[in-house]
Amino acid sequence: MRKGLFYFRPFAILTFNMETPKREHLVRDLKNYLIHLKDVGYTEIPCETELIVDAQQVPAPSGSHSLSQSNSEMANNKSLAAVQKELGDCTRCKLSEGRKTIVFGSGNPNADLVFVGEGPGADEDEQGLPFVGRAGKKLTEIIEKGMGLSREKDTYICNIVKCRPPGNRDPEPDEIAACNPFLIQQLKAIKPKVIVALGKPASSTLLGRPVPITKERGTWHEYAGIKLMLTLHPSYLIRFYTLENRKAVHEDMKKVLRELKK
Ligand code: URA
Repeated sequence: MRKGLFYFRPFAILTFNMETPKREHLVRDLKNYLIHLKDVGYTEIPCETELIVDAQQVPAPSGSHSLSQSNSEMANNKSLAAVQKELGDCTRCKLSEGRKTIVFGSGNPNADLVFVGEGPGADEDEQGLPFVGRAGKKLTEIIEKGMGLSREKDTYICNIVKCRPPGNRDPEPDEIAACNPFLIQQLKAIKPKVIVALGKPASSTLLGRPVPITKERGTWHEYAGIKLMLTLHPSYLIRFYTLENRKAVHEDMKKVLRELKK
C-alpha cells in the first residue's frame, strides 16, 4: 500500500465543527475522501472486520454512483463529454449552494497543453467559462503573446474546483476532494503532452502535497504519466507585477514550449 502525507484531510474540519454533521454530508464527504485516496494510489484501507459490509448486497441509491462504479469508470478513460455528463448538475460539495454556473473547462479537448487553475471567480461563474476575468486576460496574454499559441485551438483550460468559492476564498480541502475525480478524468480524457499547474492550490492538488510554489515553480513533475510544470498563478502575477515574476513565468513557459516541440 502506498504511504505518504495526505494533502486533503476533509475530516479535519469536523474536529473544529461544534455541530453534529448531517449523516448525508458525512457519507458524501467519506465517499469523496475514499475516491481521493484511490486516486492518489491507495489500494486498501485497514478496517475492523465487523464493519465490512458486502458492497454487492447494498443497492446504490438511485441516481448515485457506488465507489466501485466510479473507480471502474475512472479506469476506462471516458470522453470529456462523458465526464461532464457524469458531473451533471453537481451537488457533491457545498460550493454548489452558492454557484450560478458549473465551470467545467474550455478549449480544445485534444490539446497537447492543459492549464489547471484554482477555481472560478465571479466572471467565470457568470459566463460558465474558465479564466475570462482579469486573471484570464493575463493567462490569454501568456498563451498568445508569450508562447505564440492559440488559447482556443492549442490549449484546454480548467480548474481544480468547478464551482465558485464564495467571496473568492481558496477552495477548501473537502471541496477539492469532491471535484478531484472529475479533474483526473478530464485530464485522462484529454491526454495532453504537458499540464501546467497555475499557482499553489493547483500544484498542491496535482502533486498531492503542499507545494511552496515560489520555490518549486519552473520544475518538472509527472501526473498520471503526463509531464507537469508548476508556475505562478496569473492573479499572483497581476498582484506582484515584478520583472522577476514575469521573467519566471516566461522561463517556465519556454520550458513547456520546448517539451511540446519534442
Ligand atoms: N479564473 C479561473 O477560472 N480560475 C482561476 O484560478 C482564477 C480565475
